[in-house]
Amino acid sequence: MAIFDAIVLGLGGMGSATAYHLARRGRRVLGIEQFVPAHDRGSSHGHSRIYRQAYLEGEQYVPLLLRAYDLWRELERASGRELLRLTGGLMIGPAGSRTVEGARRSAEVYGIPYRLLDATEVRRRFPQFAVRDDEIALYEERAGALFPEDTVRAHLDLAAAAGADLRFGLRVEGWSAGADDVQVRAGGETHRAAALAITAGAWAGQPLADLRLPLRPERNVQCWWRPRAHPERFVAGQLPIFIWERGERALYGLPDLRGEGVKAAIHHSGEAIDPDEPSRAAREDEIALVRERLAEALPDLPGELRAASVCMYTNTPDEHFLIGLHPREPRVAIAAGFSGHGFKFAPVVGEILAGLCSEGVSPLPIEPFRLERFGAAPVG
Ligand SMILES: Cc1cc2nc3c(=O)[nH]c(=O)nc-3n(C[C@H](O)[C@H](O)[C@H](O)COP(=O)(O)OP(=O)(O)OC[C@H]3O[C@@H](n4cnc5c(N)ncnc54)[C@H](O)[C@@H]3O)c2cc1C
Repeated sequence: MAIFDAIVLGLGGMGSATAYHLARRGRRVLGIEQFVPAHDRGSSHGHSRIYRQAYLEGEQYVPLLLRAYDLWRELERASGRELLRLTGGLMIGPAGSRTVEGARRSAEVYGIPYRLLDATEVRRRFPQFAVRDDEIALYEERAGALFPEDTVRAHLDLAAAAGADLRFGLRVEGWSAGADDVQVRAGGETHRAAALAITAGAWAGQPLADLRLPLRPERNVQCWWRPRAHPERFVAGQLPIFIWERGERALYGLPDLRGEGVKAAIHHSGEAIDPDEPSRAAREDEIALVRERLAEALPDLPGELRAASVCMYTNTPDEHFLIGLHPREPRVAIAAGFSGHGFKFAPVVGEILAGLCSEGVSPLPIEPFRLERFGAAPVG
């Protein structure tokens, strides 16, 4: 039986990156994925994702985002694919709101260039946005769009080219760890490796059941629109990516990048989902809610609906990531709970897990994302 240096459980956004970073270090990697490459049943599909650096969720993310930027550009060069297109980004909300203030704080702490625009300036520079007089915006140049399916394929192709053994249509049924190795059961076989990376997205609660992590998969609908008027204002180069805090749930959007339509959706639907639930159609009431919000915020946008699809968030109670070694099994590294904002980190999460699986240490600061904050007992 082949003995591997590392097994990667789940080859979505984070797992494909992990397999690549392990393989490029010369590790013997086995990757196992229950569906096909770049499938649409998890969290990493839907044409586009937002990338930004002035991070409203907290400055602890910025070192990872800065490293991720370099890795995104490296991955583009290595794969020959366009994966990150800068469009500029607007974080909109009332003065003092978490969206504007959090982004400003991260920018200040790390010297990320930004500009604050008042309502009049926003309307003048970006007439697509019907901001209210009491709303302001932080504009960041180094923000834009990522292409998730192409990213997963790029990582998988490069991992395979570097010798990784990647198996699809195979579901991991269980794992156990001993003093010398980790054993993973899938398709009636047991595979052994020195380390295991668990990157199972919304399914993470299954292989990590013993930790009782408070992970809550959430249904989220993404919609693509044809503008009602001024379509030229909604293409990349004209429309920046945006996050707009107004009321309880933020509205976000990305320009039409490759002719797929303008993407706009509401961050956090609130509805729980079982990741194994077979029905994935977006519902009329979910689409109507987005249309309603858009009609008030970007009145020229919500024309014909081009497409809508369901994607999953995997929320933690504080909406911060879980990245680190398994608290009781030092051969097992975990990346989970990305709470709807993880994709922009995919390459750097891959690099971190490759470090954890190879040397037991992360090349970047991950202390803020430790699993122990939810009560899982540490090793020893
Ligand atoms: C609508 C929507 C919009 C988003 N927008 C943004 C954004 O703009 N910017 C951003 O940064 N992030 C965004 N995100 C979040 C981001 O996409 C996710 O955080 C990220 O894709 C999570 O990647 P993952 O690898 O954890 O999950 P996945 O990509 O789902 O990968 C997990 C994989 O594990 C496999 N798997 C699980 N269990 C098993 C098993 N037992 N055996 C074999 N395989 C298994 C699954 O099939 C899956 O392929 C968004 C998410 C959604 C849903």
